Amino acid sequence: MSNASPFDLPPAPHHFSPEHEAFRATVRSFAEREIAPFAAEWDEAGTFPRSLYAKAAALGLLGMGYPEEYGGTPADPMFSVIAAEELARAGTGGVQASLGSLHIGLPPVIALGSPALKARIVPPVLRGEKIAALAITEPGGGSDVAALRTTARRQGVGGGAHYVVDGEKTFITSGLRADFITVAVRTDPASRGAAGISLLLVEGDTPGLERTELKKTGWWASDTAHLRFDGCRVPATNLLGGPDEAEGQGFRAIMRNFNHERLVMAASAVGYAQACTEEALAWARERRTFGRALAEHQVIRHKLVDMVQRVEVAREFVHALAWRLMHGAGDEALLVARTGMAKIQATQAMEFCAREAVQILGGMGYMRGTKSERLYREVKVMVIGGGSEEILKDLAARQLGL
Ligand SMILES: Cc1cc2nc3c(=O)[nH]c(=O)nc-3n(C[C@H](O)[C@H](O)[C@H](O)COP(=O)(O)OP(=O)(O)OC[C@H]3O[C@@H](n4cnc5c(N)ncnc54)[C@H](O)[C@@H]3O)c2cc1C
Repeated sequence: MSNASPFDLPPAPHHFSPEHEAFRATVRSFAEREIAPFAAEWDEAGTFPRSLYAKAAALGLLGMGYPEEYGGTPADPMFSVIAAEELARAGTGGVQASLGSLHIGLPPVIALGSPALKARIVPPVLRGEKIAALAITEPGGGSDVAALRTTARRQGVGGGAHYVVDGEKTFITSGLRADFITVAVRTDPASRGAAGISLLLVEGDTPGLERTELKKTGWWASDTAHLRFDGCRVPATNLLGGPDEAEGQGFRAIMRNFNHERLVMAASAVGYAQACTEEALAWARERRTFGRALAEHQVIRHKLVDMVQRVEVAREFVHALAWRLMHGAGDEALLVARTGMAKIQATQAMEFCAREAVQILGGMGYMRGTKSERLYREVKVMVIGGGSEEILKDLAARQLGL
């Protein structure tokens, strides 16, 4: 029986340049060498070495897409998609989520931070020396961002101006270790809804910030935390207020940030779905029941074809979307809708492949240490986080004008 991979297709030149393909090869070997061999160990330990950030930075994985003046390397969205897919094949969402939390924490700093703040915050994060995170979700709810209740009251004048932050955030990726946290706050306490929401950069060592680790179903290697802000004093210069240094710009920035996060989550889900399929196929070729390899039983063969098919459909959707985003090819509303739909398509493929992979592995699929077991535990956060399936369908319906 052949050992060929069903995913072994030549690169699609209409989507990827030789530079993209060279980058893919680099990230693949990094993930195979630096992450995959330790995935199970780090998951059990509930953490991974901080030194991985610097290793990823040396490869350009952290600085990709950020301005050169802050130590980044300009890169189109295809590079983010490639990095997400290839890191995902190591089969540990926990490591990938924490390693990548800068990509949700930093973009609002780049978009709305003052030049002095950017110069201080961004370079050490891109070098992998400091960790950045984003804190939007509150115990009262995550989907309804406009209802957030954490407050930041401005006090003082001139150089002594500062905000006093009170409230709670929960389920925050890199929440325990982050040095810089981009926090969604209500700067106008009298406001309701989206108006009056701002983003504020809170530093990890701010007095009054208390962080508690959260135990969860999957992503064990990721330091998800509950954050409590009790009278935290934050310099007014840490407001992400754009050139006018104005309050109330948070909601739009949060929504813009979500689009990139969703594209990357979709690409990651494709990688996880493929990792499950590859593990199940290798097992099915090896394992024998009733005198034949599992892969020779028609029921199992059909499962494997269903898995490959779903991975490929999701992948093509994500690649075509990334190409459109890269070239600005399409009306913005239609692309926002497709970004949500791509995340739904890819995470559904991941759910299907994780379920079938565990089934094909049988009892072994229920044992800790296999990729399929880990990804089966991790799949739900992909469907809920960064915009749940229900919320994204509502968003898509609105953007499509249905
Ligand atoms: C491991 C992990 C890491 C995370 N990391 C971060 C992070 O780094 N930063 C951060 O800010 N957040 C983070 N989150 C939070 C995540 O983004 C939220 O969990 C998500 O947005 C959903 O919010 P919620 O959990 O409050 O659910 P809710 O908003 O309470 O929703 C509960 C359920 O109801 C559904 N629902 C809600 N409203 C509607 C509606 N109008 N119609 C139909 N269905 C609806 C939702 O889809 C969901 O299924 C993380 C979550 C997890 C689990």
